[in-house]
Amino acid sequence: MSKTIYLDHSATTPLSAEAFEAMKPYWSDEFGNPSSLHHKGQQARSAVESARQRIADFLRADPKEIIFTSGGTEADNLAVFGTLNANKAKGNHIITSSIEHHAVLTTCQHLAKQGFEVTYVPVDKCGIVDVAELKKAIRKETILISVMHSNNEVGTLQPVAEIAQVAQSHGITFHTDAVQSLGKVKIDLSAPELQGVNLMSLSAHKIYGPKGIGILYIRKGTKITPVQYGGHHEFRRRAGTENVPGIIGFAKAIEIALADLEANSRKLSGLRDRLEKAVTSKIPDVQVNGHPTQRLPNILNASFKYVEGEGIILNLDSYGICVSSGSACTSESLEPSHVLSAMCIPPEVAHGSIRFSLGASNTEADMDFTADCLVKVIARLREMSPIAPKKTL
Ligand SMILES: *Cc1c(COP(=O)(O)O)cnc(C)c1O
Repeated sequence: MSKTIYLDHSATTPLSAEAFEAMKPYWSDEFGNPSSLHHKGQQARSAVESARQRIADFLRADPKEIIFTSGGTEADNLAVFGTLNANKAKGNHIITSSIEHHAVLTTCQHLAKQGFEVTYVPVDKCGIVDVAELKKAIRKETILISVMHSNNEVGTLQPVAEIAQVAQSHGITFHTDAVQSLGKVKIDLSAPELQGVNLMSLSAHKIYGPKGIGILYIRKGTKITPVQYGGHHEFRRRAGTENVPGIIGFAKAIEIALADLEANSRKLSGLRDRLEKAVTSKIPDVQVNGHPTQRLPNILNASFKYVEGEGIILNLDSYGICVSSGSACTSESLEPSHVLSAMCIPPEVAHGSIRFSLGASNTEADMDFTADCLVKVIARLREMSPIAPKKTL
């Protein structure tokens, strides 16, 4: 196979050489358990606490507000279950959006079966959550609002500051999954407009850090109970021996991601626009999904009419190009993406949708090669498609 062109950075990213180097000692000599009183343990403790401090500084938060978890999924679960358990006396109603990541969405669906009331706020055709509908959904029993910072399938940025203010004015805990936004858009948790953000989920492996490490930011004063019990780790909010190498790697990955955030984002959006322009000008019957401006710099989601996403993925893979259809988690299901459905994209169009998610290794030549391969692949698939009108060949 030819050179790999990896365009699936929203699914995961390669570990950076710097993060890998930083982690190395903690797989070998620096193996101590941070809870041990002896010097091996205390060395690990001080490495973990220094990483926590640096991460808190990057996010403009307090180190005590940074809780390490096993990833974004666990952070989302802890946010939702932890808030519900801590606020049982107040009510049983959750507000979320119809385009959340499965880590929030299926958690809410599970809770609905357990007797909780869940309102899924709709989005407009660009994938932006309807804040007026969200406000209308608030009841006196509402104990949690969870709306993602940016969407992982189409890249739409959500009006998080506005929702945070609504939540705060009603005294409701607000959680946002910012896994896709970290390192791409600025996040300053000390900003006045974000004071209503009580909980925020982050994950290392989407920003060139290691897999299996995440963060739940818990703003001081937020009522939350643990989900996992055991020792007194993570300020008694998440029991379990710390993933020391993971934490060190996460701190390094955040440092690198934030150091060049603006330049990287500009580079990525330039490449994304180049790909978008080539694809929409060279291929007929293509539609770009998402918001034209309120979006992450690195995601292009496009629907190729009359063909199936699966076919496109496998054909592009034969050229060494890695893309996905919506979220990695839906790659084995035949249901159209819940995000595209919520954006009122008809199922037959949603079925031909591909997410191109760009990252550090990509070049202009990669974009041009991908567009050229797509021209061939789409033409070939449409030739075989019984529903493609012959004029589009
Ligand atoms: C990847 C992702 C997650 C899950 O994070 P893991 O660390 O893989 O568990 C959660 N939310 C969003 C938006 C994601 O993109």
